[in-house]
Amino acid sequence: IRTIGILGGGQLGRMLSVAASRLGLRCHIYEPGATPAADVAYQVTNAPYEDEGALRAFAESVDVITYEFENVPTSALDLLESIRPIRPNRRALAVSQDRLTEKTFLNDIGLTTASFADVPDQDALPAAIQQIGAPSILKTRRMGYDGKGQVRITDAAHPEWTGAPSVLEGFVEFTAEISVIIARGADGRVAAFDPGLNVHRDGILHMTTVPCGLPARTTTDAVLIAAKIANALDYVGVLSVELFVTPKGLVVNEIAPRVHNSGHWTQAGCAVDQFEQHIRAVAGLPLGDGRRYADVVMENLIGDDVLRVPQLLQTSNLQVHLYGKGDPRPGRKMGHVNRIGG
Ligand code: ATP
Ligand code: MG
Ligand code: MG
Repeated sequence: IRTIGILGGGQLGRMLSVAASRLGLRCHIYEPGATPAADVAYQVTNAPYEDEGALRAFAESVDVITYEFENVPTSALDLLESIRPIRPNRRALAVSQDRLTEKTFLNDIGLTTASFADVPDQDALPAAIQQIGAPSILKTRRMGYDGKGQVRITDAAHPEWTGAPSVLEGFVEFTAEISVIIARGADGRVAAFDPGLNVHRDGILHMTTVPCGLPARTTTDAVLIAAKIANALDYVGVLSVELFVTPKGLVVNEIAPRVHNSGHWTQAGCAVDQFEQHIRAVAGLPLGDGRRYADVVMENLIGDDVLRVPQLLQTSNLQVHLYGKGDPRPGRKMGHVNRIGG
């Protein structure tokens, strides 16, 4: 394998490209939107997912296709897959593109999720609230990220509507949020990174801390859950699993079939970080072992946080990552820092 195709040209695609380049591989990024973060890739195609000619040329120019963004239209995936293999596979994508399919899959393999109900349209909402209760959270089935497409239901009599087919989730009284970043190779071997403790602000990940400070029993359980999901999907690549820690045990919040913001600490904590690990997996190379060599706190630089960069660059135990995105709009992920030594 010499060239890796990446669907999506955001910061995750950027950092995958950098990792691939270190291994002597090239990346070709396909991105329908603006591509300021993609400028490190060997080649960038800026075309819509409906452009069959562009999709075909992209697929033919690469050896394997992966993605940093899971909401690629099925028609585009069908065409791409007729030309080159897609890793992680289509089932992993299908399961994680849709919160209803995702939760059903997780329950089917014996894992605990929040209680949930299908809410295909606004008329179905009262019955769903009757079933799940309040407080609860209504989430669009597709396309949501950073808390977008979600409304909190507190007043059961006057619920807001998301405007699209949704699931209603029971509110989980968690004591902490953690995530597991795990890699699985084509030979079925897995390598997990240590679970990180996640803190969100305004629905957006703010900080990830390793070690997460939870008992080994809990972190072992979290890793076993992630491995179970990876095996069940016959997964190849890096998989991310977000979990709620509750007094009754772990509850799976959602999965992402890709590298994840909460895994950025691996850049400063591990010999092989999540980006290189993903590239190794999809390129059929041996995986790193996931061992952590340092305590790390990862903090996102969101919007105007980037104005702190001149100061941050003068801090000795800080690794600064910037995505090259230009203007810092509110809520926009501009970069992150990894503080080594916690
Ligand atoms: P991401 O950017 O991680 O993909 P997202 O938009 O898919 O986010 P979720 O992860 O579903 O959103 O929810 C965002 C945050 O909202 C969670 O990390 C958690 O803090 C809170 N949350 C979501 N669902 C629940 C729930 N059922 N009970 C309690 N809190 C929840
Ligand atoms: Mg999500
Ligand atoms: Mg999430």
